[in-house]
Amino acid sequence: MEKLEHQFLDHYFEKSAAIYPDVIAIEHGVKEYTYAETNAMANRFAHYLIEKGMGPEEKVVILLPRCAEVYILMLGVLKSGGAYIPLDPEIPAERVNFIMEDSEAKILITSNEILEKLAPVLKLHPLFNLDKHLEDLKSLPDTRPLVMNRTLNDLCYIIYTSGTTGKPKGVMLEHRNVDNYIRGAQIIYPIDSTYRALQGFSISFDASVEEIWVTFSVGATLVVGTYDIMRSGDQFAARVNQLNISFLSCIPTLLSMVDEDIPSLKILIFGGEVCCSELAHRWCKPGRLVYNTYGPTEATVIATYAVLDCQNAVKIGKALPGYEVLIINDQLEPVGENEEGEILIGGESIARGYLHQVELTAQKFLTIDHFKGIPERYYRTGDMARYSPEGEISFIGRMDSQVKIRGYRIELCEIESALSEHPAVRDNVVIVMEDMPGNKRIIAYVVKRDNAITDLSDLRQFLSAKIPVYMVPSAFVYLDEFPLTPNGKIDRKALPSHVETEVDSTNLKNGPQTETEISLSAIWSEILQIRIIGIDENFFEMGGHSILAVMLIVKIEKEIGVRLPLAILFEHGNIRDMAKMIDNQTKINNWGSLVPIKSKGSKPPLYLVHGAGLNLLLYNTLVSYLDPEQPVFGLQAKGLDGIDEPLGTIEEIAAYYLEEIYKVDQSGTYALAGFSMGGHIAYEMARQLVSSNHRVSFLGVFDTIADDVSDDYLPIFIRIARRINRLHHQIIWNTKTFFKKTSHEKDEFFAYKIKSIKQRITKDDYTLHPEGVSEGKQSELPKYLHKVHKANDDALNRYILPEYSGKIHLFRALDQTFYIKDPIDYGWSECVKGGVSILNIPGSHSRIFAPPNDKLFAETLQKCLDEMNMN
Ligand code: AMP
Repeated sequence: MEKLEHQFLDHYFEKSAAIYPDVIAIEHGVKEYTYAETNAMANRFAHYLIEKGMGPEEKVVILLPRCAEVYILMLGVLKSGGAYIPLDPEIPAERVNFIMEDSEAKILITSNEILEKLAPVLKLHPLFNLDKHLEDLKSLPDTRPLVMNRTLNDLCYIIYTSGTTGKPKGVMLEHRNVDNYIRGAQIIYPIDSTYRALQGFSISFDASVEEIWVTFSVGATLVVGTYDIMRSGDQFAARVNQLNISFLSCIPTLLSMVDEDIPSLKILIFGGEVCCSELAHRWCKPGRLVYNTYGPTEATVIATYAVLDCQNAVKIGKALPGYEVLIINDQLEPVGENEEGEILIGGESIARGYLHQVELTAQKFLTIDHFKGIPERYYRTGDMARYSPEGEISFIGRMDSQVKIRGYRIELCEIESALSEHPAVRDNVVIVMEDMPGNKRIIAYVVKRDNAITDLSDLRQFLSAKIPVYMVPSAFVYLDEFPLTPNGKIDRKALPSHVETEVDSTNLKNGPQTETEISLSAIWSEILQIRIIGIDENFFEMGGHSILAVMLIVKIEKEIGVRLPLAILFEHGNIRDMAKMIDNQTKINNWGSLVPIKSKGSKPPLYLVHGAGLNLLLYNTLVSYLDPEQPVFGLQAKGLDGIDEPLGTIEEIAAYYLEEIYKVDQSGTYALAGFSMGGHIAYEMARQLVSSNHRVSFLGVFDTIADDVSDDYLPIFIRIARRINRLHHQIIWNTKTFFKKTSHEKDEFFAYKIKSIKQRITKDDYTLHPEGVSEGKQSELPKYLHKVHKANDDALNRYILPEYSGKIHLFRALDQTFYIKDPIDYGWSECVKGGVSILNIPGSHSRIFAPPNDKLFAETLQKCLDEMNMN
């Protein structure tokens, strides 16, 4: 292999750009940038930064999601001689403010969307707004700027990690540190310019340095792992394979959830957390190199690696070339074979230290001369390990309270410190519990100040404003006092564990007290598979979703004998309220069709009609992403209580819902929307409103197809001809679509089609789950629900679509999974006279409410509502 010169990180890119100018450097969906294009754009940005005063040792913060421009901007920062500080856009504004101030960054690089989200907490910082300022670069030279006085000891990037003092700490990495890492990585990974690497890590992780810069250093293609790809769940393997990714670096947790293989992978790197042998063995395949890599941010990405096979136990292996790794005892002496000790890392990749933290830097970065007779810098990792007889290193665990959850490095003290700032908290302890193997959860135990009043959602909200969401505990437990050890310290081992909490949960301040609360908490625990349940905790915040909601309501009816409305979970989604409603039977019988999903807010309300699955909970996450000032009411079918008779026509249903709305809202102007069949009901409601001289400010149909209604008014021979014609098109569409798919997708598509044909024949499905993955069977539903379903189906089949004089907004699912006669406007233009505005939502018909599509959907919907309200 050619011996590489020591060089700046940006020079690695430039060298690749000189050799492979036309190779795609960055691919983001349909967007592509070659090495030459990327290099030219980065040069322009570097000129811009230099004009703003950037140069060696100056910093900028990059607060953006993974997207093509991020890497161009990073490269531009380096070319200007400065250093970048990458942040995840999900972090709270308070933390962004802290990092901007702590690092004295010159500029905050971000986007409109993020600025809107973080306002008004985000302070005024000098900005480079991607949506506004990118245009400004066009007039600047695309040649490499000359930066004087650069040295390899200059700062390259700063990564902020969780800090024990309650604030994150900035780890400062220099060009020489990263240069040493890239040289090592190029030796151990046989990657070349033909590879395609996925960039799936948050850019705030130093693991992203591996993905981005190792790829660029060899002229390979970096494929942006958008949120959509990274959260595609059971589609992940297929998506990655379809993108032909050959280089994947990830945390083991990611692939532990992926059942199918990804045949395109040639280099697979696990890192960031413990990798179990079972997982490693499953992913080792002929023709693929699988690695376990270990290393802290402070030693630049990774310090050790092991090449895995499908037999041997997983180790963290040996030092990366250019790194020195030792295992030492308390006296800083190397331990012998099989003895445990702390991992100490030396070599050119050891970071400069922690920004503005001289003492902590001195504690963790030691200069030791007794190993080599000359002083050398080492980093004390706090990780325990031992050598195996073959001389490889086995990882044992941490010496302190730092934990890794789904790859995130978290200091539990930082959470404790943030929580202690809450005025109602006298004392708190945060631990990590693993109730099921692989399911690590953060639990906070809190002792309140005397007479302090606060509820759990208040604590959760308080923390969410201070720390990233992955650090917010998933459960809070109130205690009168903490158990102590004989010498007066908090006895963490004696904190109520799952079993004790379950048996003796009345000891908890917010534990169940009454008989109904105790029965309910046992049912909730079983359904949610969580054993600590305070009676004020919210069903959805504890992981509840619409399928679980149905199971919960059915189980409560079976075990307690009371039929609760599903919609109770919207505004009374905790055990305390539910128990009150059960104990006070009169209220439960009040099964109105109008359900407040979010009743508060200063904007005009939106009325959302249920889809064919009848379940309003489908809208739960969508609503949570709408503007906090946007009230939303749901309309659920009559007859869900098993007492009232369901209505028989769409016209009757619409009239009935309008009556319900008029009882609470006589404003005369209404905004309506509905999903699938709910779109037809909303449409009929709008028509009735207009004909009774009311105003419709907004009518939204969510993936509703206009001609999914009755054609009974047509003569029989036309109807038959239409149906034959439709069947013919369906067959052609399905065949064409099938052949366009990859072999893996073909299997899935085929299975999906067989399933839907079976369901049509047996009429045995209901789609309740927003993810659209686990539809249930009608036969499992109580009889009264079955009756409501059938009545609604019949009503739609009888409905003849009338004309409507107003305008509609059609929200179309981008992934079409079935034949649609008119795929552009779904046939609405024929009957809508005021115009059809078309908006695309990522996902298929059944996944438009699933994350991450729900968020985008909500943003688009809110924009339309706001625009229409202004008119
Ligand atoms: P970070 O600085 O975010 O990269 O986290 C570094 C820490 O993650 C290390 O100090 C270890 O505790 C842990 N870690 C990283 N890689 C591994 C691995 N392969 N096996 C076990 N723990 C790991």
